[in-house]
Amino acid sequence: MPGSITPFRQYVLKVCSRCDLACDHCYVYAHADQSWHAKPKVISDQTVAMAAGRIAEHARNHALDQVRVVLHGGEPLLTGRQRLASICARLRETIEPVCGLSLRIHTNGVLLDEAFCDMFAQHRVTVGISLDGDRAANDRHRRYADGRSSYDQVMAAIALLRGDRYRHLFAGLLCTIDVGNDPHATYTALAALRPPRIDFLLPHATWDAPPPAAAPGLTPYADWLIAVYNQWRAGPDQVPVRLFESVIATSRGGASTTEALGLTPSDLLVIETDGSIEQVDSLKVAYDGAPETGLDVAGHDLDEAARHPGITARQQGLAGLCATCRACPVVTTCGGGLYAHRYRSGTGFANPSVYCDDLKKLITHIRSGLTGPVTSVPAAAAPQRRKHTMPAAHFATLATGYGDDQAVSHLAAAHLSITRGLLGQVRDKMAGTPADDAAWEILTAVDPAVLDGVLTHPYVRAWALRCLRDPGERADHLSAVAAAAAIRAGLPAELTVPVQNGYLHLPGLGRLRTPAASDVTISTGPDWFSAQAAADAQYHVKFADPGSAWEPVRRLHAAGTSVALEDTDPYRNCHQWPAAPRLTGGEARRWQENYLQAWELITREYPAYAAGLASGLTTITPLSTDTAGSEISAAARQAFGAVAAALPDSPDTLALLLLHEFQHVKLGALFDLFDLFDHEDTQLFYAPWRPDPRPAGALMQGVYAHIAVTDFWRVRRHQLAGEEAQNAAARFALWRAQTTEAAQTLATSGAVTALGQRFADGMLATLCQWHDEPVPPAATKLAAQWAQRHRATWEARTPP
Ligand code: SF4
Repeated sequence: MPGSITPFRQYVLKVCSRCDLACDHCYVYAHADQSWHAKPKVISDQTVAMAAGRIAEHARNHALDQVRVVLHGGEPLLTGRQRLASICARLRETIEPVCGLSLRIHTNGVLLDEAFCDMFAQHRVTVGISLDGDRAANDRHRRYADGRSSYDQVMAAIALLRGDRYRHLFAGLLCTIDVGNDPHATYTALAALRPPRIDFLLPHATWDAPPPAAAPGLTPYADWLIAVYNQWRAGPDQVPVRLFESVIATSRGGASTTEALGLTPSDLLVIETDGSIEQVDSLKVAYDGAPETGLDVAGHDLDEAARHPGITARQQGLAGLCATCRACPVVTTCGGGLYAHRYRSGTGFANPSVYCDDLKKLITHIRSGLTGPVTSVPAAAAPQRRKHTMPAAHFATLATGYGDDQAVSHLAAAHLSITRGLLGQVRDKMAGTPADDAAWEILTAVDPAVLDGVLTHPYVRAWALRCLRDPGERADHLSAVAAAAAIRAGLPAELTVPVQNGYLHLPGLGRLRTPAASDVTISTGPDWFSAQAAADAQYHVKFADPGSAWEPVRRLHAAGTSVALEDTDPYRNCHQWPAAPRLTGGEARRWQENYLQAWELITREYPAYAAGLASGLTTITPLSTDTAGSEISAAARQAFGAVAAALPDSPDTLALLLLHEFQHVKLGALFDLFDLFDHEDTQLFYAPWRPDPRPAGALMQGVYAHIAVTDFWRVRRHQLAGEEAQNAAARFALWRAQTTEAAQTLATSGAVTALGQRFADGMLATLCQWHDEPVPPAATKLAAQWAQRHRATWEARTPP
């Protein structure tokens, strides 16, 4: 019964059960559970194959689009480079035919060198490093068994990951808190390394084995974290800190991003070096054998693990907490803290966290400084927005930056559904007018497929939205929509249609120039209509031979595709730049010539985008070049299927603009269906293509569009020669680095929802696979100069 359990999306795969350090706060070796003694030192090929097979089987059974596997230990680098490479290869070849795979390794860093990094780049493995702060902080616990410091080796590893070559692999730093370390010095030291994210972990403890600094009436961990939080919050350039972001997100009704806090059901499973299936590692702190399930990958599928009482206990949200926690005012953010920290002999896990007082104080402090509403309603009880669904495979393919015809058709169908709903709202708004009944009768009488043909026109939705927001907008344009439907259906009808600025508009068909100042009554038939515009102005428009007063929407044609060249609709002016006026015949011909060549280039060189474009791009809207130069383009969320552009100088550039803008079209449509980011999050981020800081949703849009831009130059550099090729290579290097950095910022921002996280991981997976592709040194240098220049300009104009 695949649907009756919470499937696992995250796995910790133990590849080595030994460590080269002897950190005294380690939960594997220094706490109650001592099962590591009996485990194989290194996982076998056979166990890896079985584990990969089980993960793929589970993903297939539950239609998961993405899973994450973290290679862990002990110290996973002790497994050796060759063995790790073969483990990664086996995981990818087994899991990726089923779903996306995000691979990460978590290491103490002391063995990390260029050879490891090259291998991780090849296998697209991101790297998290444990570091407890500055030298003094790190040396308190992270030492070799003989007492030697590991600090210099760890810093060398981090320096490697911070360099241009491996920056895209750097996943972040993990710091275990010791309140004996100065909080400001610790945060300053970690933040100075500019990691994509910092994780602060409370030292593992239970009511039986309390935290090292615990004392009655004191809250040393809250005080320490509050000091860090205040510094972090006041800082001009915050490094993402998962703990703080999670408190903020859940306080605003969002999802937790850490298992240490919140009510989000756990979806994490551990597979040991001997193939045994275990619960989260942190349970090792509770009692000997606490994480065990009695299951293993050789004999049990992962659905059995998902039904294990120890696993389901961490998936019950509020209902799984003790009475004290359920009544707590910060429970939606705290969630009783980390499951392991609730343990007490006799009562098991039915207790508040041993860090209860600290958690309450920290959460209350953070909430007190937030602007906007703070919610104390558990997410499950909060009002839900209208639900939309999408097959997981479609979501996964869109998350990679691509999207085949089926995925894009799904978006188009959702757009139609939304537009139909908007039409109903407009009808309600104009209820009682004579035009209302006549128009609505037509809209409900025509074949639904014909109506869909009219509603596919992007600017019907743009009009409906304007109409619902602006009391002065022409609601009676509904009659024009109905008239277009009647003509397409060949239905005889009589409708009164508004005249705007001297034109009677029929959406998707064209416009009639008329001397009438206001409404015109038209009669319709198969591919014709007649209009009595004035006593001496009678028009009979046959589309096969329309006459000079009729200005049809022209179409652009290329092999296997045809799109509208929309320069008549009064609602096309919803883009960032002003729409061009009606094109001359010569201008329309130039569009046709450029479009033909641009489409040939797209189908030949960018087939991964072509199918989606052919399925979803219905309209190109010319923009005015009067004010902004020739290379301007835009897409509007309220106009699905339309790309607006000024005709650029070359078909190549038109191809690039179409690829770029259609990414916005796809993601805008996904935003209609799902919450991919936290709308309440107020963070602003550096976006390397913009002069101004951007919120999470805009950053996601930019990353998505620049995946296509990066891909364009990635391919194009091989088709050009000389300086052009060099320039294209530099653009590829620039956008590969910049887009990856922005995607990492997004993925680690805490500003995305769980679904948004999967989308961000999908984008990152596509970007990371391009980092193996060589670029000439001169192009790399040029790209670095461009990037530095943009950053410097941005910093100069962005207030701290
Ligand atoms: S603060 Fe304490 S009582 Fe409140 S939810 Fe957390 S652990 Fe439970």
